[in-house]
Amino acid sequence: MGFVSLIGVIAIGVLLLVLSFTVVMTIVVYAIWRTRNIILPEVILALMNIFDYPVKRTFWFFKIDTEAVDLVKTVVMNKIYEKQFSKIPPQERLIVLPQCLRHVNCPARLDPNEGIVCVKCGLCGIANIKEEAEALGEKVVIVPGGTFAARMMKKFRPKAVIGVACPAEIREGAEIAMKHGIIPQTVPLLRSGCVNTAVDWDELKRVMKLGIGNAPDLSDTMTKKAIIQN
Ligand code: SF4
Repeated sequence: MGFVSLIGVIAIGVLLLVLSFTVVMTIVVYAIWRTRNIILPEVILALMNIFDYPVKRTFWFFKIDTEAVDLVKTVVMNKIYEKQFSKIPPQERLIVLPQCLRHVNCPARLDPNEGIVCVKCGLCGIANIKEEAEALGEKVVIVPGGTFAARMMKKFRPKAVIGVACPAEIREGAEIAMKHGIIPQTVPLLRSGCVNTAVDWDELKRVMKLGIGNAPDLSDTMTKKAIIQN
């Protein structure tokens, strides 16, 4: 076999290998998206990092929402880091919320050092989350964008972060956090956009309480008062 023929055979072999992995990864990602069942999350994450683009193109070809690929990646990352996250005390955790979760008539103002300062008017779910988080000892920041979020992480230097955003942004945010040695957990928005977005508040509360055991529900004022009195 000549040199040129050998190169041709190798090229075809590599192409077939890439195609096979793309098909397998597309099926795996789709299955995780539908079932949320994950085995060997570290292996899946490594392969997703390599085959991100071809898998997205395949989803697009079959008219499946490509955002699902980012969503699956965040689910896999959550699984990998959940145990480590649970060991971080609440005082070392930072919750980063996007400003688009606010009510359109939100009266809060932007503080360049703290983000948007919620005045707990009650028009959106942030007031309740902030109260619960603060009762647990966790800090909440509301940010106008990814750059501001990165600045807040640099400023507060948390050991763990809970990020809420659209799947593509939280995936990016989680990767930045990991680069800085911050353990991430993420909760994707149910409805993305610039305003009037939505999140599963119960899921966010579940993540906030990871590793805190059977912490009493301090959002209940009566319980809180009883604890303080005792
Ligand atoms: S609860 Fe806070 S964030 Fe939500 S609308 Fe009121 S002030 Fe804005």
